[in-house]
Amino acid sequence: MRAHEAGALHGQAGDHGPAWLRVPDDVNALVPVLWSEHVARAEDGALRVAGLDVRELAQEFGTPAYILDEADFRNRARAFREAFAPATVYYAAKAFFSVAVARWVLEEGLSVDVSTGGELAVALAAGVPGERLVFHGNNRSAAELGRAMDANVARIVVDSYDEIERVARVAAERGIRQRVIVRVTVGVEAHTHEFIATAHEDQKFGLSLAGGAADEAVRRILAAPSLELVGLHSHIGSQIFDTAGFEIATRRLLGMLHRLRGEHGIELPEVDLGGGFGIAYTTQDDPQPPRVLAESMRAIVERECAALGMDVPHVSIEPGRAIAGPTTFTLYEVGTVKDVALDGGRRRTYVAVDGGMSDNIRTALYDASYSATLASRRSDAGPVLSRVVGKHCESGDVVVKDEFLPADVAPGDLVAVPGTGAYCRSMASNYNHVPRPPVVAVRDGAARVLLRRETEQDLLRLDTGLDVEEGA
Ligand SMILES: *Cc1c(COP(=O)(O)O)cnc(C)c1O
Repeated sequence: MRAHEAGALHGQAGDHGPAWLRVPDDVNALVPVLWSEHVARAEDGALRVAGLDVRELAQEFGTPAYILDEADFRNRARAFREAFAPATVYYAAKAFFSVAVARWVLEEGLSVDVSTGGELAVALAAGVPGERLVFHGNNRSAAELGRAMDANVARIVVDSYDEIERVARVAAERGIRQRVIVRVTVGVEAHTHEFIATAHEDQKFGLSLAGGAADEAVRRILAAPSLELVGLHSHIGSQIFDTAGFEIATRRLLGMLHRLRGEHGIELPEVDLGGGFGIAYTTQDDPQPPRVLAESMRAIVERECAALGMDVPHVSIEPGRAIAGPTTFTLYEVGTVKDVALDGGRRRTYVAVDGGMSDNIRTALYDASYSATLASRRSDAGPVLSRVVGKHCESGDVVVKDEFLPADVAPGDLVAVPGTGAYCRSMASNYNHVPRPPVVAVRDGAARVLLRRETEQDLLRLDTGLDVEEGA
């Protein structure tokens, strides 16, 4: 991940925070790129989403809650599909998934990328047909693979020799020929604005191109009668803003595709270029719209194919974050506010909310940056450097490391953190026995719960201690 000027979580940052953080002219103003399309601050000072007042949403659904702008989600999904057509756009379910989300994605003409039996189960429950699914993963059991095959999953991406053997065996047991794609590690690793083209390959995913493992995988698949090799896949990273990394990855992938013709006489019809398109979490991020990404990726593929003298293969992409991320904000209620003295007479305000690392682990896990705003009212107080923290027993329980919030933020206020639609609910935990928040979809002035709030009863249901006592 990017090195932050703020350094480690235990802040050396002064009153001004990290270098990229601007003192806002108006602490009430929303920065449009950070918010979904239908979020605005109303005349009365409180945020509205698709016409609904966040104070009423908090009243009805409680806090914390993930508030998802459904039309914005659909628009982003459709924008990717239209911009990249005729490419297949697989929505990466791991970003955020539910039955309703699977149906929106289908209705908008996308397909779905699942990577575990659990994600597959949700897709199938939602009625996603097998031909609209690609199955990823690096260690799927025979049972998971079997369920995928029984659902006629169109493509299984294989990630190791063991999986090739396992997929071949499970397919042979069913008397079918399963279509597979090889996940190739092309030696490009991209994060944010930078990438390394000679990334060392000391990681669990994929089969190395440079090391020959990808070629060996191809040989093994071609030797397995129950497998049909249809393409090559590469996923170079996440939260990428620049297509330069994709360019090198695409060149290497297409180079391999071309070489396989000569060596094995096979013409693989597909390349899957993965996901990883970046979104704005703070004002330092500057994402490109799908149309611009698509144009530059199309140009890259066409140029490379022309140079190799081959037809353009069918292309797939797998955006997750770029569709789900910006659609959602987390609505929290402030519980305590603490002014902490730092070195040199500087101060930082700690605003503790009623959630934390259980509903957003990305700050602690990736040193990710987020933004926040006072959501329930407008304030005339000056901006102070604040840190939004949670209620967990962990000093790393930080949601937003650095943000300017009004100096009068107080218990009972609502704070909204945008950009939490991807990898927040899907990575949520029950740490400290905190029940996971609901996901509430809002559209045209109506709200509906996609995933309900967990209850303490839900947590106790897994705990067999009471059963034992009752049975004794
Ligand atoms: C995580 C992942 C994606 C989606 O990544 P985003 O950053 O959410 O776009 C796509 N494909 C594969 C194989 C992945 O592992």
